[in-house]
Amino acid sequence: MAQTTRTDIFKKCYEFKEAEKARQEGWYPYFRPINENHGNTVIIEGKKFIMAGSNNYLGLSQDPRVIEAAKKAVERYGTSCSGSRFMNGTLALHEELEHRIARFVGKEAALCFTTGYQTNLGSISALMETNGHIVTDKLNHASIMDGIMLGSAFTRCRNIHRFKHNNMDDLREVLSRIPPDEPVLIVTDGVFSMEGDIAKLPEMKKIADEFGARIYLDEAHAMGVLGKTGRGTLEHYGDPNLADLVMCTFSKSFGSIGGFIAGDAEVIDYIQHHSRPLIFSASMPPAQIAAALAALDIIEKEPERVHRLQEIGRRMIQGFKDLGFDVGDTETPIVPLIIGDNEKTFKFWYTMYQEGLYTNPVISPAVPPNRALIRTSFMATHTDEELEATLEIAGRVGKAMGLI
Ligand code: PMP
Repeated sequence: MAQTTRTDIFKKCYEFKEAEKARQEGWYPYFRPINENHGNTVIIEGKKFIMAGSNNYLGLSQDPRVIEAAKKAVERYGTSCSGSRFMNGTLALHEELEHRIARFVGKEAALCFTTGYQTNLGSISALMETNGHIVTDKLNHASIMDGIMLGSAFTRCRNIHRFKHNNMDDLREVLSRIPPDEPVLIVTDGVFSMEGDIAKLPEMKKIADEFGARIYLDEAHAMGVLGKTGRGTLEHYGDPNLADLVMCTFSKSFGSIGGFIAGDAEVIDYIQHHSRPLIFSASMPPAQIAAALAALDIIEKEPERVHRLQEIGRRMIQGFKDLGFDVGDTETPIVPLIIGDNEKTFKFWYTMYQEGLYTNPVISPAVPPNRALIRTSFMATHTDEELEATLEIAGRVGKAMGLI
C-alpha cells in the first residue's frame, strides 16, 4: 500500500490477538470443526463427544425420512433456487411449506425466509415506521435487535424501548410513557435462548391489549419443545391468540435451515412486499424446504418425541439442581449452568470438553456481564446413559473446581 498518513482501516485486525492466543493455548471454544455428526454424539479430531450443546431438539436433522426428503428435492429441483422469492426463486414447494406452517401454528398465512436470522431482520424492519415504537425484552435474541437496527436505519425510527427481562411491571411502565396514538410492536422470545425461561405471555397480552399494542413472538426455541403437540409457547399457555405474529426458525426442531413469520394474511402480504432481507437475498434451497416439510410431518405424527424431550428437560433441570448448580429459571431442555466469572466458565467448559462432553460457554454480550454460563441443551434422541454421563461429568468437574 502507498505510504500516507492515513490510519489503515485494517489496523484493528492486525492488532486483534485474543482469539489467536486462545487457539494457541488450545482452549479456544468457538468455531470448532465437527468431523462427524450423529446427532446426540459427534466426532471431533477423532474423539467421540456427547453433544449437549445443539439446538437439534428433536434429533430430526439425522432422521432418515428427513434426509431422504432432502435428497429427493435435490434430484428434482437441483441445489439452489438461484434467486430471491421476489423474482425467480419461489418454488411451489415454498408455498406448500407456507400453507402447512400457517395451519400448524393456527394463523392465516406464513412467509418463509432463508434463515431465522433473516426472518427477524426482514419482518421487524418491514413493520417499523418513523413514528412507530418497538418495545423489546432486554434479553431478546441478537437477530431481533439487528432487525430493529435495520428498520431504524431505513425509517429513521428512533423509538426503541428495552424493558427489563420478562418483567411485566417494567413493560407496563415503558408503554405508559409512549404517546397513546402512536403504533407499538412488542417483541419477545417465547423461550429465551440462553437460559431457557419462558416469556410471561398471558400477562403481556393483557397489557398489550390495554395499550393497543401488537405482539411479535420469536418461537425459535419453543416450537417442537413446548406444548402437548410441540406448537410452542401459545400451546404451552393454551391460547392461540396470545401473539399477533409468530416467528420461528427451521434450524432447530425442524432439522433444516430457514425461518418463517406467520400471522394475518394482510400483514404477511405487507411484509412480503416490504422486506429487504427477503427481496434481496436468494430463497430457501429445495433440500431445506423438503427437510422442513418432512420434519413437520414427523412432529405432527409423533408427538411422543416432544414428550420425551420435555421429560428429558425436567430430568436434567432436576439433575443439575441436585448437584448444586444454579440453573436460573429454565423450564425447558435448555439448561444453563450459571457460573458468573468468564475465566472459570471457560476452564469449566474446557475440562468437561476434555472429558468428552460438548457444551457451549457463553459470556457477555450474549448474556449480561457477570452472568457467564455453560449452556447445555438436550435432544429427544439422547439416551438415558448419555444423560447420566452428562450429569456425572458436570458434577465431578464442577466439584473439583469448587463451583458446586
Ligand atoms: N431467534 C432466536 C431466539 C435464536 O436463538 C436464533 C438462533 N440461535 C435465531 C432467531 C436465528 O435463527 P437461525 O440460526 O436459524 O438463523
